[in-house]
Amino acid sequence: MQKNKINRLLVANRGEIACRIIRSASEMGIETTVIYSQCDNDSLAVRLADNAVEIGPSPASKSYLDIQAIVNVALDNDIDAIHPGYGFLAENAQFAQAVEDAGKLFIGPSSRTIRLMGDKLAAREIAREAGVPIAEGSQSRLDSLEEMCTTAKEAGYPVLIKASAGGGGRGIRVANNQEELKCLAPQARAEAQAAFGDGTLFVEKYIPQARHVEVQILGDGNRVIHCYERECSLQRRRQKVWEEAPALILTDEIREKICASAVTLAGHVNYRGAGTVEFLYDEGTEEFYFLEMNTRIQVEHPVTEMVCGLDLIREMIWIAQGNPLRLEQGEIRIHGHAIECRINAENPHRDFMPSPGIAESVTFPAGPGIRFDTMLFSGCNIPPYYDSMIGKLVVWDDSREAALARLRRALSELAVEGIHTTKSLHQALAEDDDVVALNIHTGFLEQWLRQRPVTTDRHIM
Ligand code: ADP
Ligand code: ADP
Ligand code: MG
Repeated sequence: MQKNKINRLLVANRGEIACRIIRSASEMGIETTVIYSQCDNDSLAVRLADNAVEIGPSPASKSYLDIQAIVNVALDNDIDAIHPGYGFLAENAQFAQAVEDAGKLFIGPSSRTIRLMGDKLAAREIAREAGVPIAEGSQSRLDSLEEMCTTAKEAGYPVLIKASAGGGGRGIRVANNQEELKCLAPQARAEAQAAFGDGTLFVEKYIPQARHVEVQILGDGNRVIHCYERECSLQRRRQKVWEEAPALILTDEIREKICASAVTLAGHVNYRGAGTVEFLYDEGTEEFYFLEMNTRIQVEHPVTEMVCGLDLIREMIWIAQGNPLRLEQGEIRIHGHAIECRINAENPHRDFMPSPGIAESVTFPAGPGIRFDTMLFSGCNIPPYYDSMIGKLVVWDDSREAALARLRRALSELAVEGIHTTKSLHQALAEDDDVVALNIHTGFLEQWLRQRPVTTDRHIM
């Protein structure tokens, strides 16, 4: 039945997601090889993998982003497939293409689908075609500032200026009027050009006080199913810091609609692999708007795994082997509630300044319903070169209230010495009345931080 059995997998990533992928692959009897940069030579991923190959110097551009070097490792080591994880080259169509051209399997959709859906403007067009609601805004590539101003005026201010190739919250600006648009667009263009090599911008109506709700989907090229939704409204700099499944704010009727929209959109491009369709949900009007599709495994996938009882990495590998989906839609059910806190090596008392260094001693939370996906071990090195996320604390229980209690307990057990972490931010959030009442929106955390800076350091550094 398996058309392209994977015997050897190359993990083209680092940190917790590299460990996460290695673990599922091992359970499937697959031999794993991980790439690593100079500073990652004694990382947990290197320790967990069957084989490890040094790829280059520490800066990502010379290692984890070096397409040719990675493809060469695959060719030299008789690798069958490459898992890109998230970040780095995960949504780089050129990389997927190079892997395909080398005769290896890319664990994800085709380079063509990545190219199509990775471009926010193109994805908006596909959503429009598929009848999935989008926020008012650009219909085409608007290169001139005048055209952006006209579209913004039609949509009505405030608008967001977005980079079509953007990701990780970068290249986004709010413009409250035409003057701001004219002033901010060149900055956004420069940032997008520098970060993504593409300065294409578009404008989209700003939806205030909305919730970020996203749907996990799986496709095999013929059929698409969804694994329900996550709420990711607690964000700083438009990047998620706390995620939950399910999104309790949704009624069953809206949940069904939003999940069906995600399936329709992915079906429209005969999607193959795991993906996430992101939406903004406006509670007042009960309307939702398509934001973007991420054609990869997402950071917060564990909350879906916990409530659905799935291993999404295993499903991705299964699909990449050319198999049809293992599951029917009716077999996916939500049980209980899960919350994930992103633990970053940052100092929340110093405006989240990165805090790299040696994590001299680490104590992990444990017990029922606790999962800690991390690259940490006592004595490990947190290099300054990459994203500051070092672990994801995930808790599950049969209700949100119980999950919150479990989260508070797990956070109090977590101890990291030698570097600063965002643990105290999560402790404060887990005690906050509005967070407990789920009275949140995408601007909530930034507002909260302005009003109530995290001052209690507790016993954690
Ligand atoms: P998710 O979309 O999975 O919820 P994020 O938006 O935080 O998570 O992005 C996942 C990771 O990938 C983060 O480490 C972020 O810095 C990185 N990232 C996201 N998009 C890009 C991109 N286009 N280029 C480089 N890094 C990216
Ligand atoms: P990225 O690729 O950087 O993840 P997204 O389009 O997914 O970009 O947007 C990231 C975040 O920015 C959203 O989760 C939301 O908080 C905010 N955002 C994006 N579009 C809008 C909008 N039209 N109105 C209000 N907030 C938005
Ligand atoms: Mg996004």
